[in-house]
Amino acid sequence: MKQQYKRVQINPYNIPTQCNECGGNMEYTGLGEYTCEKCHAILYDNYGIVRNYVEEHRGATTAEIAAKTGVNQRQISDMVREGRFEVTEDSKTFLKCYGCGRPIRAGRYCPTCLQLQEARERREEEKKQKKQMTGYSTEVPKGEKGAKRFERGWD
Ligand SMILES: [Zn+2]
Ligand SMILES: [Zn+2]
Repeated sequence: MKQQYKRVQINPYNIPTQCNECGGNMEYTGLGEYTCEKCHAILYDNYGIVRNYVEEHRGATTAEIAAKTGVNQRQISDMVREGRFEVTEDSKTFLKCYGCGRPIRAGRYCPTCLQLQEARERREEEKKQKKQMTGYSTEVPKGEKGAKRFERGWD
């Protein structure tokens, strides 16, 4: 990928600004795709390149995608984290759940940990409420807000 040399720093996603064929201006047409105003040649930025590859190679790992497309593996991981597309589980460089380390396809947590995380947040919120309630128990007639929270239950 020698022709990227100039753009690397100012243009980490390698967005095409000029047509390779005729030097015309490239117009963004969506999903990492750019079309030449003059000759209608199509070029892709890194996202477009990776996206195309993944579409044709369902189940490709980030390492594989990086090797085949020349796009930085970290950038690919970022794209996956942003939920732009999915990769498979059979890679060592695969995304890991922040909670349990299990491989995940997108985002930060596996579904289990996401639920746990949410439950924990709720519990902490309730603990806080309880603390406030006991702290003021002699003065405040049973924090109404807290009571309502508990009635709503766990789901
Ligand atoms: Zn052109
Ligand atoms: Zn997990």
